[in-house]
Amino acid sequence: MTFKTFVSFLLLVSFSSIFSQTYITNVTIADVEKQKLIKNQTVEITDDIITNIKATKKLKVPSNATTIDGSGKFLLPGLTDAHIHFFQSGGLYARPDAIDLRKEMPYHKELDLVHESMENTLKRYLQIGVTNVIDVGASYSFLKQRAEFENNNHTPSIYMTGPLLTTFEPSVYKDLGDEKPFSLVETVEDGIKMVQEQLAYHPDFIKIWYITSRDTLEVEASARKNLPVIKAIIDEAHKHDLKVAVHATQRITAQLAVENGCDYLVHSVDDEIIKDDFVALLKKNNTILCPTLLVHSGYVNTFSQNIKMSNYELLKADPDQLGSLLDLKHLSDTLLVNNYKRSSSSERSMASLKKAASISMANLKILADAGVLIATGTDAGNIGTLHASSYLSELQVMKKSGMSNWQIIEASTINGAKILNKEAEFGSIDIDKKANLILLNANPIDDINNITLIDKVINNGLVLEPNSILKETPAALAQRQLNAYNLRNIDAFLEPYADDVEIYNYPDELRFKGKETMRKGYSKMFENTPNLHCELLGRIVQGNIVIDKERVQFGDKIMEAVAIYHIENDKIKRVYFIQ
Ligand SMILES: [Zn+2]
Repeated sequence: MTFKTFVSFLLLVSFSSIFSQTYITNVTIADVEKQKLIKNQTVEITDDIITNIKATKKLKVPSNATTIDGSGKFLLPGLTDAHIHFFQSGGLYARPDAIDLRKEMPYHKELDLVHESMENTLKRYLQIGVTNVIDVGASYSFLKQRAEFENNNHTPSIYMTGPLLTTFEPSVYKDLGDEKPFSLVETVEDGIKMVQEQLAYHPDFIKIWYITSRDTLEVEASARKNLPVIKAIIDEAHKHDLKVAVHATQRITAQLAVENGCDYLVHSVDDEIIKDDFVALLKKNNTILCPTLLVHSGYVNTFSQNIKMSNYELLKADPDQLGSLLDLKHLSDTLLVNNYKRSSSSERSMASLKKAASISMANLKILADAGVLIATGTDAGNIGTLHASSYLSELQVMKKSGMSNWQIIEASTINGAKILNKEAEFGSIDIDKKANLILLNANPIDDINNITLIDKVINNGLVLEPNSILKETPAALAQRQLNAYNLRNIDAFLEPYADDVEIYNYPDELRFKGKETMRKGYSKMFENTPNLHCELLGRIVQGNIVIDKERVQFGDKIMEAVAIYHIENDKIKRVYFIQ
């Protein structure tokens, strides 16, 4: 190699490592701020930044550049879930203060599990196009763990608070050290001290749980009694340039919080229809509100054992956590389980859920129409609200409340960025912003469900196929069909099976072959069997073989069996039953 060619070789090497360029050509861009679609555009991405956007015929693509043909496709900014909790799994054992099952699952084990699965949880979000998550109530332990995912192109960006500051602390969360999700604050001095204590862990903002007496007659008096503490926390946080998010679900607590400087209301007001003065207050202060319309029903549906999961949720959720919600069907403490079932399915409980939901939805419509900033958030991690998979259901209920698809998309993108003043960094498709994008196969303005038809996820400039982000394990595949079996959902049950699946009685008696034969037999069984429930007693995985020991309630019969699943090309190809 001559000196000259050596230099050009070096230049080539350094250029290709410094500049990685991708062009998405001929695509329709969603301008979420002007609420309009712009056709035939080419977007240039250099490393992790959008560096140019022009009409396709006006932007020349270098012949050696990576190009993605965006013809017929729609480009959206990456989505934000503006209200999640990593310390909660979404499963049955997530909140021992709501249902105490620590005898079944010690809480430290549950916490170990959520830490271990944090990477997968993040990938589940990225897989559905969520490139930013905002944890509004974490712990010091999660603030430390998130450092592992900094500059990771295979996980979303994470924004996080420390433990939430509260005037009431559920006793199960005491003495947890760095895992504590709550910090008790009883005086103004406590409030100031607790904010200062959090600074060392570098939270992005501060969260307050503004809780009042449950007695409706005492709500205002107790809200006002706690106000000096709330105000002290807000003032101290602002002194350190930290925004403050407040959990306030009554009109009075929400109003007092906003009047005293709260930047972000993380729930709907669900006790009364808001009036003009409240709307004007939020507008004047630029307060952002996250409605979290579904989280309450997640608890009620789980406890009343009236769990409804769409095929999308069955496909995208952590299958083990989703499966845990069904554990109530077989836990040994039947007295506790039946009490929860009875009280959650009571007329009173149903009426109160219905009332709060309808007030929340009506208030959302009022706020959105008035131009108050709404941000999409699920409150995922709470019992029955599973990470990532619950996002679509939240969008659907926002739609049902009367928001337009554009308003919903704005709430899911740019408004999420505005919560932490990050709108110059992400949230829309503009030059100099982060290349966090989703390329859709269909128009989300025609139908909000089209937001799930993702061709590519682009995270920090890295182009990813959604299915490559998180590889489904054989155990997850087996668990997914088990969940669908227990929910009697025939399509979701058959999804993990190969078209030419073979079902055997061990060792070699072929019972039937083919998914369609299976569909006939199982749909009839799902329809006609009362008390159908399969409990997993144990699972062994070896390579592509999963062996489940099951106890099946089948009408009034209970039997035990072993199922051996052989998985090939990511589908269940053969099953052997030992009965
Ligand atoms: Zn929450």
